[in-house]
Amino acid sequence: MIYCRHQVLRIKTKNEEEVKELQLLESLEHLELDFWINPSTPTLPVDVRIPTNSLQEVKAFLESHGIEYSILIEDLQVEKEDMAYNQQRDRPTVVLSGTIHKRKWHRDFSFQIYAELDHLVSEYSDIVSKLQIGQSYEKRPLYVLKFSTGGSNRPAIWIDAGIHSREWVTQASAIWIARKVASADPSTTSLLNKMDIFLLTVTNPDGYVFTHTTNRMWRKTRSKNQGSVCVGVDPNRNWDAGFGGPGASNNPCSDSYRGPSANSEVEVRSVVNFIKNHGNIRAFLTLHSYSQLLMYPYGYKCTEPDALGRAAASSIRSLYGTTFTVGSICTTIYQASGGSIDWSYDYGIKYSFAFELRDTGRYGFLLPASQIIPTAEETWLGLKTIMEHVRDNSY
Ligand SMILES: [Zn+2]
Repeated sequence: MIYCRHQVLRIKTKNEEEVKELQLLESLEHLELDFWINPSTPTLPVDVRIPTNSLQEVKAFLESHGIEYSILIEDLQVEKEDMAYNQQRDRPTVVLSGTIHKRKWHRDFSFQIYAELDHLVSEYSDIVSKLQIGQSYEKRPLYVLKFSTGGSNRPAIWIDAGIHSREWVTQASAIWIARKVASADPSTTSLLNKMDIFLLTVTNPDGYVFTHTTNRMWRKTRSKNQGSVCVGVDPNRNWDAGFGGPGASNNPCSDSYRGPSANSEVEVRSVVNFIKNHGNIRAFLTLHSYSQLLMYPYGYKCTEPDALGRAAASSIRSLYGTTFTVGSICTTIYQASGGSIDWSYDYGIKYSFAFELRDTGRYGFLLPASQIIPTAEETWLGLKTIMEHVRDNSY
């Protein structure tokens, strides 16, 4: 897909009224807007990709309502080609440390990510094994890595990445994190002595392949929608938690389409079934990008888990100074129904967190590959803070 002269605007709302105006704008289908950050609260900016043909109308709309905006990306196609050029240029220096690609995005999904899972399993066979928990709509296997030092049905941590396919830094970080856990330094050993870790590196493989082959900005699954030419469901609006409520769309053409019913997407259903069958998952951690947020579910009280979220954010910040905003409904940071951590929390998993990794919009989903490793490193510190808390507090 060509994004020639598509712009990404950053819109700053001053109040609830302006948020409502933007939600109205969001509902105007003919504009074909792609919200990278949806309008939800005046405390967060709204980022939106606008096709060339709609630019004038959108800018006129904003100006007539007195809503402030700036241009985040002047021409998305140019930005995308610059990025590809830089990766090409970096190619001779690509470092493969045990096949982890330091300078380059994972181009061929089935070849590289799935091959890397197999490498990990063979290299660290005493700790790592690979389970298949289902298959995607297009029949790609959904592989979960299990990290365990023994025992049966130990308490466990769930981590997933890439449920939104275009959030490439999440799948890449998950691969880095997998190697970190597997290599069993003292910090991971002390975790694995008490708990197992399950990691799903590519939750939405069909979407992920599509972002490589056809449309870099694809977010949804690739399932067919009855009675619509539009494809795909937003798999993070499809969970059985407030399904159909605000912050999700009932329009199959929308990027936040919730699907015909809760769990309609096999990728979501497979995770739900795995977690229910396991029966002893103590934390549910999910990786998204971008915005640098750490969020916990609506139902949370703003007490102890809030402190834990802040502790995790401060661990993240300790490495490169990357700041994460921490919040829940009590600080009204985000609104979306049918999300995974609402489901996991309702299901009884007290430690449920969603991470929105780097950056805050300079590159958005087109984060340069050179930021993969630092992003993974700092994210790992945040995850570890939460996992250690769970280890020390759930017995
Ligand atoms: Zn996401």
